[in-house]
Amino acid sequence: MDLVHEVHAQIRSLERFVPLLGEAAVDEARSLAHRLHERLAGGVIWNVNSTAVGGGVAEMLHSLLGYARGAGLDVRWLTIGGSLEFFRITKRLHHALHGERGDGSLLDESAHEVYASNLGRNALELRELIRPGDVVLLHDPQTAGLAPTLLAAGARVLWRCHIGADETNDDVELGWRFLARYLDGVGCMIFSRESYVPARYRDGRASIIQPSIDAFSTKNVELDEPTVRSILVHVGLLEGPPPASPRYTFVRSDDTPGRVERSADVIRLGRAPAWETPLVVQVSRWDPLKDMLGVLRGFSLMVQNHAAPEVDLVLAGPNVRAVADDPEGPAVFEAVYRDFLEQPPAIRAHVHLAMLPTADVEENAVIVNALQRHAAVVVQKSLHEGFGLTVTEAMWKARPVIAGAVGGIQDQIEDGVSGVLLRDPTDLGTFAGELHRILADPSSAARLGAAARERVRERFLGVRHLVQYGAVIGRLLDA
Ligand code: UDP
Repeated sequence: MDLVHEVHAQIRSLERFVPLLGEAAVDEARSLAHRLHERLAGGVIWNVNSTAVGGGVAEMLHSLLGYARGAGLDVRWLTIGGSLEFFRITKRLHHALHGERGDGSLLDESAHEVYASNLGRNALELRELIRPGDVVLLHDPQTAGLAPTLLAAGARVLWRCHIGADETNDDVELGWRFLARYLDGVGCMIFSRESYVPARYRDGRASIIQPSIDAFSTKNVELDEPTVRSILVHVGLLEGPPPASPRYTFVRSDDTPGRVERSADVIRLGRAPAWETPLVVQVSRWDPLKDMLGVLRGFSLMVQNHAAPEVDLVLAGPNVRAVADDPEGPAVFEAVYRDFLEQPPAIRAHVHLAMLPTADVEENAVIVNALQRHAAVVVQKSLHEGFGLTVTEAMWKARPVIAGAVGGIQDQIEDGVSGVLLRDPTDLGTFAGELHRILADPSSAARLGAAARERVRERFLGVRHLVQYGAVIGRLLDA
């Protein structure tokens, strides 16, 4: 096998959800898994995508696969490989389905040539593993072109699209036209939102499943206050001596002990915030659509316009100086840094641009966990978003969240109940006003946070996700 690799997911037990969801909900998931197991009669459910690390899809696969395997299903995960040119084309497709121009290339016949021949080589390797009757869940545009070969080999194919645009435009149309050649024969598809389903597949073949988070992963697991504090002090995000006994340890997903060893690279004018200083936090990749720059400007406006309480802003993302798989990262960070330098010193003294260490994924995750837990307000002022995992992560930690009313975020937050939605995320005046309102009213902030956690418990945890998957796979087996 040159291109295709198997990823091993840690087996996890659904049992841990009982205290959160009750015995009945967990039992329903278990018996659905049992029925599917019987019907598959030794068949395997394969997931195929293009990466085992980085990004929301890989994060979800690790956890969902673990729970499905824990429930007795033979679910496996394969990644495909490809040339730089193949991934340039799939990145272009990714942008197109989001309604963006990306590198503006044409997705013409020569692109089909590269795309199809690369996937043809992967399909040869996949056919040695996948047997007739197996279920294959293909994820995202990178794998869509495998569908015809796998269908011809007798597999039952499902395609899941994790991206989408609320409104169509020329790029969206171009992307779907490209993929139609490979997807038209697929009878079962999954999208994250109704509005992401393209017109040509609004014929009963599409199901809607919203993403979920893993309440027990390193990113989301409960951390007590001393641990939060010592992690944030250790990495340089908070001031002060850490508590007497070092608590910057954590439990890795394979149950071995981990320790936060690295520090964040933080750019700031003055001191790190004290534990008591309320923090406004946005955690995201340094991507123009996450609008870190807008968050900085809106924060600055808030401090200038309102008699703002003592409050600091932390903009945190991956270290752009490390090996980056995000080619736009350094330029976006640079733009935010330039704007920071132009802010009045009184503002700059309250702003922290943090690049988190990424070498150890779980170390990174526990730092994000601690930072989200410590935030007074979490912001996700995205200008475009398929589904914002950071929003759900912060809601699960009972934080009040202010987010752009774009894409899936509109399904995640009910405005004014479980968070605050910014109708126009480019309107910095409104953002500044809302930020001030939440910071000035801790009891309403606490109400928003409590409702947010409850909403995630009801709708955005992995058990719901698995049950929906089970239902769709059941229908696929009926077909
Ligand atoms: N993330 C992280 N470290 C960072 C920045 C982001 O672990 O420095 C995580 C974040 O917690 C979330 C994911 O990356 O789990 C981003 O998913 P989201 O859906 O918010 O945005 P995407 O990056 O997929 O567009």
